[in-house]
Amino acid sequence: MAPAVLWFRRDLRLRDNPALARAAAAGDAVVPLFVIDPALWRPAGEPRRSYLLSSLAALRRSIGGLVLRVGDPADEVAAVVAETGANSVHMAADFGPYGVRRDTAVESRLDASGVPLVRTGSSYAVNPGSLLTVAEEPFRVFTPYFKAWQAQSWPAPSPTPSVIRWSLSAPSADLPTGHVLTGDPEAAGVRAANALTGDPPDGMQLPPAGEDAAHRRWMHFQQSGLASYGAHRNRPDLDATSRLSVHLKWGELHPRTLLADLANSCVDAGSVARFRTELAWREFYADVLFHRPDSAREDFRQEFSALPVQKPGDLFNAWCEGRTGYPIVDAGMRQLRAEGWMHNRVRMIVASFLVKDLHIAWQHGARHFMRWLVDGDLASNMHGWQWTAGSGTDPAPYFRVFNPVDQGKKFDPDGAYIRRYVTELRDVPAPQIHEPRSPIVDHAVERKRSLAAYESIRTRTPA
Ligand code: FAD
Repeated sequence: MAPAVLWFRRDLRLRDNPALARAAAAGDAVVPLFVIDPALWRPAGEPRRSYLLSSLAALRRSIGGLVLRVGDPADEVAAVVAETGANSVHMAADFGPYGVRRDTAVESRLDASGVPLVRTGSSYAVNPGSLLTVAEEPFRVFTPYFKAWQAQSWPAPSPTPSVIRWSLSAPSADLPTGHVLTGDPEAAGVRAANALTGDPPDGMQLPPAGEDAAHRRWMHFQQSGLASYGAHRNRPDLDATSRLSVHLKWGELHPRTLLADLANSCVDAGSVARFRTELAWREFYADVLFHRPDSAREDFRQEFSALPVQKPGDLFNAWCEGRTGYPIVDAGMRQLRAEGWMHNRVRMIVASFLVKDLHIAWQHGARHFMRWLVDGDLASNMHGWQWTAGSGTDPAPYFRVFNPVDQGKKFDPDGAYIRRYVTELRDVPAPQIHEPRSPIVDHAVERKRSLAAYESIRTRTPA
């Protein structure tokens, strides 16, 4: 028998990994492979690159080694197959626009040697593209999708094979120490990756990476956060959400594992249901992106591209740097730079501010988020932005312009969240802390402009 290759991508774990079980059954040993793909590495942004390297280091520790390659996956996967004499390559399916193209290219390269590329599962409980409306069309609205999603039965978590023989004989680039890739310095891929740092931006605190850290976080949240999730999930001043997004992004734990634990949970049923719904939003957006890959860049509802927009300039820079003069907006944008993460409620507030107060196209904000977010995920990010801009799925809340002062008062009542990030306001008492200071625009004026622009599109668009 020959070994089988397990090609890790966004599934950096050993537990509940059906592709691992399949690879272990297919070969007499498993070659654990990760390919750093310059096409993804380059645009990822320092926080995500840095986190990925830490997560790979954790995966390597749990396996006892890792075959790391840098370059075009079609070349690298085929080379590892040739070097090891592998009989098959296993992985979780990727449904994103780039992932589908990449995997098709790898598959046709492997065809030449007769080695199959075997897709088992995906990063989702329900694979994108597998649910359709009764009219056999893709879902465009969350609630009916959610009903169909809930009616599915997903498999129970996959047991980890009791014995896995790992094969580590294939040549590997070294995992970076100090986040610089070593290995053959002449290899083009290593040179390309080394030209880019894997260090987090100065002073940024990234969460602990890896499968064990993900499970610890999930245990902690089940014990101390889940019961009050329904009541407190919108409060950025409280540590009330799971912070699992980065672990889900890299597949350090699978939503199937979470859903199985939720099914057995004894805490507040409303909170459990709410948390399950949030997991379903992630799955819904992946489904929407699968059917409409163009929505990664353009408005899902194309009529919205007629909205007048401003070019990003000084106002955009002030937003990026957390200098708008609106305290909750500035706190969010500074949290993003300090931690590579932002609370969901605040993501909505800052997104609304960029699009509806500064009239800047959502794509600019989405790109900034993708550069800084450690959990940056194409589907959730692009559609989170479009939901806020009103151009995405679900009936557009075009009339919903978040008032940043009211939002601050409602969701950060004592101003604790603002004080944590906007340190110059730390001595200002609530409720004054929410008042704008030298604001870059007047919210009341910009709100009216926004509503007028949205109204003009709405009346132009046939119902
Ligand atoms: P929890 O509240 O604990 O939720 C649990 C999990 O449910 C999350 O980890 C996430 O996987 C999923 N989830 C929760 N809310 C949403 C949502 N609105 N849409 C999709 N999935 C959700 N999420 C990302 O993972 N990556 C992104 O790049 C991203 N960009 C966003 C951009 C904007 C403008 C907005 C409004 C939202 C974005 N979200 C994104 C969704 C959401 O903000 C984050 O998933 C959430 O804040 C992560 O924190 P948490 O793990 O503590 O969430």
